[in-house]
Amino acid sequence: MIRHTWPDTTTSPAPPPTAAGTFDERIPPQLRQELAAAFARPAAQQPEWPDSTALHAARTLLGAAPPVTSPGEIRLLRRELAAAAEGRAFLLQGGDCAETFDENTEEHVSGTVHLLDEMAGELSSTGLPVIKIGRLAGQYAKPRSKPVDVLGLPVYRGDIVNAQDPVPSAREPDPNRLLRAHSHACRTMNHLRTLRAGDVFASHEALLLDYEGPQLRADRAAAGQDVEVFATSGHFLWIGERTRQLDGAHIAVAALLANPIGVKVGPGTTPDEIEQYADLLNPGRVPGKLTFISRMGRDQVRWVLPELVERIRRTGHPVVWMCDPMHGNTHESESGYKTRDYADVLRELEVFFEVHRRMGTHPGGVHLELTASDVTECVGSASGVSDTDLAARYETACDPRLNRRQSLDLARAIARMLRG
Ligand code: PEP
Ligand code: MN
Repeated sequence: MIRHTWPDTTTSPAPPPTAAGTFDERIPPQLRQELAAAFARPAAQQPEWPDSTALHAARTLLGAAPPVTSPGEIRLLRRELAAAAEGRAFLLQGGDCAETFDENTEEHVSGTVHLLDEMAGELSSTGLPVIKIGRLAGQYAKPRSKPVDVLGLPVYRGDIVNAQDPVPSAREPDPNRLLRAHSHACRTMNHLRTLRAGDVFASHEALLLDYEGPQLRADRAAAGQDVEVFATSGHFLWIGERTRQLDGAHIAVAALLANPIGVKVGPGTTPDEIEQYADLLNPGRVPGKLTFISRMGRDQVRWVLPELVERIRRTGHPVVWMCDPMHGNTHESESGYKTRDYADVLRELEVFFEVHRRMGTHPGGVHLELTASDVTECVGSASGVSDTDLAARYETACDPRLNRRQSLDLARAIARMLRG
């Protein structure tokens, strides 16, 4: 396991409040213009806020609030990820599908961190250092496949936008939730820093542009170096499968950030697309900057992944290849629950490792939805959860998570695959 203490940061005090659509005034004008153009591109999956005055006020307060993370911490993670890109480390990323405000408790957050620690312990038996990243301290926004749910109500988009309760008033997007999300993220991040020398980094899907924009900050590594723009809402941010349009806002914004960036790549991804992601997001070919998170599904991974890996290898781009074996393997159980079968998750991972072994590339990490609680959301493994058990403790706010037992079984299996 990699142990470190948080580095000193060169961040200066909070800037003056920003107006809606504008950015921290310490960001140089040219960069601010580029950011404005990026944010102005078409953006999928954004809520329709009912009240632009309240949105403006929330963005202004968010812009003046203390940052959740610091440029120094983000640079440290980028350096650690460089080792994973070069085959000298393994990345373990995991946590809830959707964090909720109510579940932002000491018990829940500590549970996730200790579970990641235990899993990292299993994985580091391979001799590779393990970098731990939680889906924590900001994983509050959810992309959805339909705008309305089965009851015909506007869909729940995560606690940062609206509430789960199945009544129309709860589903109305509320801009004040941007501020509540930020406060919760700071609380979680503070707790992460107090646990075990703070060696778990924070990540979330960079989905909600009204949350990310006001939290951008400028920083330079040292006097005389170029100014870089940091999303201080987290350390590692990823772009989801539903918002990775090459001409869209999410990719254009990510291209301007200094944070390490992940891109989820599903079974529809082409070699030309993946090369364009690499060129756009990491033109300087900085190792550790870019991670591809393959989420193909058990049956598709064998057919789609090899040519993507081959294309990137030929271009010489340094990337971390990570496997998310969860999101391509979701189905509805006979009892009507959205679930995942442990056997499908395991199978996708096996093929992912096989492909990399065959191609001589490094299987750099895994991305999992998990919780330390004894939930019954995914079926299978020695946990013995079956279809008829799902109703007992099905607690997720969004997608089904592995419970502690299933997560540890999987970590052992991954360690075996890593050893080869
Ligand atoms: C997720 O990670 O929760 C998610 C929505 O993933 P994807 O974008 O890969 O579907
Ligand atoms: Mn999910």
